Amino acid sequence: MRLCELLSMLDSVFVSGVGTDEIVWSPSDSGEFTVASCYNLLSQREETTDCCLGSYAWKFPVPPKIKHFIWTASLSKILTCDELGRRGQLVTNPLCRLCNLVDESCNHLLMHCKFSQKVWNNIRGKFGIPMCMPNTFGQLVQQWYSCPLPKCGQVLWRIAIAAIIWQLWLERNSRVFNNQCSSLGGVIEKVIHNTLLWAGASQKLPPLPSSVIRKHWKKIIYFSTHKKPQLEEWKPPPAGHVKLNFDGSSFGNPGQAGIGGVVRDSGGHCIFVYSGPAGCCSSNEAEAQAMLTGEKLLREHVTEPVYVEGDSKLVIRWAKAGKPPWKLKPIFDELKLVTAEWNIIWNNIPRSGNSLADSLAKEGVHRNMLQTGPQWPL
Ligand SMILES: [Zn+2]
Repeated sequence: MRLCELLSMLDSVFVSGVGTDEIVWSPSDSGEFTVASCYNLLSQREETTDCCLGSYAWKFPVPPKIKHFIWTASLSKILTCDELGRRGQLVTNPLCRLCNLVDESCNHLLMHCKFSQKVWNNIRGKFGIPMCMPNTFGQLVQQWYSCPLPKCGQVLWRIAIAAIIWQLWLERNSRVFNNQCSSLGGVIEKVIHNTLLWAGASQKLPPLPSSVIRKHWKKIIYFSTHKKPQLEEWKPPPAGHVKLNFDGSSFGNPGQAGIGGVVRDSGGHCIFVYSGPAGCCSSNEAEAQAMLTGEKLLREHVTEPVYVEGDSKLVIRWAKAGKPPWKLKPIFDELKLVTAEWNIIWNNIPRSGNSLADSLAKEGVHRNMLQTGPQWPL
């Protein structure tokens, strides 16, 4: 019975590509075993525990002393009253000094205390981030790392949270050891002061003085660090040559994908265009399929030397120099056969110079089959 099940499972597997079978190590792109890829594989399988969440603490752009404190807190090892009790020390007053209502513990002091909640709510409001306080400090560190803001906002948010935690701890110590307490407003002001101080030193934000960051807080949070697009027009190939522009598009990466391309002569006249679906795959696979399909069609239509242009640096590099990821190897093996003994010049261009191929690839996602024609629209 089991053999029948196995055979029927194997029946549904379609093996594509050319060449001989070989053994690959699937967790790495190259297909070869590396210790790093094995380590990553094992780390992903580990259950997420507060202990491994503590490792997030080391990634934040704050002074080492603060990172160490956050790491210790994520292990619930900071010296709050409950931890002192566990270590056998006599605690005369176990109450949290920030609220004097509940026994002090790491999770209470830094997250659930009424006083601490007011500090959290104030700073969270400045970022406009809705936040539900989790049960443990380790979960908080994880939430903190997956924040839904653009890059500058993420950096500031992480620094701000470190500043909150640190200031709550300093305030607790000041009340326990010096009998001095600051007001809620005073603690919030110190949190903002430290956030700006550490942001200025982090080198992960634009180099702005604290006064400017303080004034334009919201603008900086939503400031996107995306590079400006390089504008480049499409250029025709030299006389006696043709140029293929290809593109692949994957909605979701991996997700439903399409391929498209256009071949033009030195006068800029269209020789043919193509557009079609690529199934469910990654952007890189769609790009590679688009290039292979374009090359195959070229062989049927033209004999002139060819310029091949795409906006995927990686795919152009793999076509020029080989060594694609093992998953894409069948496509590049076939490409080698198709382009053998053919004069091809590969070129990487910005997306702005590849706009027609880009449109054809996006249209391809919604087509049932590959379509070709003398010009666009098809
Ligand atoms: Zn409290």
